[in-house]
Amino acid sequence: MSTSDDVIYDCAIIGGGVAGLTLAVQLAQSGRRVVLFEKETYPFHRVCGEYISMENYDFLCRIGVPLAEMELPRMTRFTVSSPSGVALHHSLDIGGLGITRYVLDELLARLAARHGATILEGTRVTDVVFADDQFSLTTANGGTYRARLACGAWGKHANLDSKLERPFVEASRKERQFVAVKRHLEGVDFPEAMVEMHNFKDGYCGLSPVLGGLTNCSYISDVRNLRAHGNSIAEMERQVLMQNPLLRPYLEAAHRQATPPIVISQITFRERSTVDAHVLMLGDAAGTIAPLAGNGMSMGMNASFLLHGLLLEFLEGRISRTELEQHYTRTWRGLLSLRITAGRLFHQVFGMPWLTTTGIQVLKRLPFMTNVLLKLTHGRAY
Ligand SMILES: Cc1cc2nc3c(=O)[nH]c(=O)nc-3n(C[C@H](O)[C@H](O)[C@H](O)COP(=O)(O)OP(=O)(O)OC[C@H]3O[C@@H](n4cnc5c(N)ncnc54)[C@H](O)[C@@H]3O)c2cc1C
Repeated sequence: MSTSDDVIYDCAIIGGGVAGLTLAVQLAQSGRRVVLFEKETYPFHRVCGEYISMENYDFLCRIGVPLAEMELPRMTRFTVSSPSGVALHHSLDIGGLGITRYVLDELLARLAARHGATILEGTRVTDVVFADDQFSLTTANGGTYRARLACGAWGKHANLDSKLERPFVEASRKERQFVAVKRHLEGVDFPEAMVEMHNFKDGYCGLSPVLGGLTNCSYISDVRNLRAHGNSIAEMERQVLMQNPLLRPYLEAAHRQATPPIVISQITFRERSTVDAHVLMLGDAAGTIAPLAGNGMSMGMNASFLLHGLLLEFLEGRISRTELEQHYTRTWRGLLSLRITAGRLFHQVFGMPWLTTTGIQVLKRLPFMTNVLLKLTHGRAY
């Protein structure tokens, strides 16, 4: 069945995670004709630690997310431990809120629609082509759509990365590959206002409270851990993750639960470009920050804020397409690339048993260094 329409949209957004959705909300609020394609149907669960740094608070409230009314858990302290259980406790000056993506993404999608955005759920984009100064998009259900601008917010990896021959795809094949797992734990005794980050060999696991009295338990592990245990998540958890005595009780609780975890694979942290084939990338599609930084969502929303202003300048004829692309790339790098690099460095250290243990012992004596490291992965309110 064809689902094409005759409208030429101001902007087509591919991917409805936090990056794409917040961009759709802002463009719709500015009175622009925007269409967003999401291959899944809201609400749905996805792998994410669901910790939203407070730097996004003002922005989210401004675009209409009623955070103040939602009674979300607020995190102000953290604990990090080495694979053997040596722990550092510290305050989280910036702090964050815990909200499930199941709730947040649907809320943003409905908000965008209420402001006039066209949200096409269950619609996978299979191709995007730039010709004659506009984009043509094709969807898996046979639709074709046209737009003056196209933004790629399709996350860590998608069919379109290969279709657009993005350079990072080939380079990533030689990189370390990771697998990520997420669960919501019910009824565990988790300390209030706390984020915990527990290392294990070649990976780390984050825990924090989220809306609804649940505890989010998400981790990332080198795929070799999984392969070494017959591709069994439960067995890998027993043999590798549960060697950390501080993590063990949570995973024991997880194994008693009936709901299976959500798992994603083929994660790499290779540098990406912000523009490919004139498509402007944002969120994880532009650059994936290591999860331990707890800030991938912030980076996606920050990029949407930056991009919204520039897209309006283009649509109002104040800058050319070339200027838009150059300006976006420059500003994005200035704003976000240090955080990605810092996250990547920490990511390499985390999961190395002796280095993590030594690092934690050093930081216990130098609390100001912990603040410096935390600031490297966080940004300012915008
Ligand atoms: C284990 C783990 C823990 C994390 N914890 C945190 C945390 O606590 N805090 C934090 O801020 N960040 C965290 N992150 C990072 C965070 O989840 C991501 O940075 C964030 O989800 C990126 O948002 P996005 O909008 O760019 O992409 P996504 O949220 O991945 O959304 C992309 C969307 O595009 C859709 N899509 C893909 N291809 C197509 C297509 N062809 N057509 C239509 N739709 C398509 C997908 O279905 C998806 O819904 C974590 C990540 C991991 C792996």
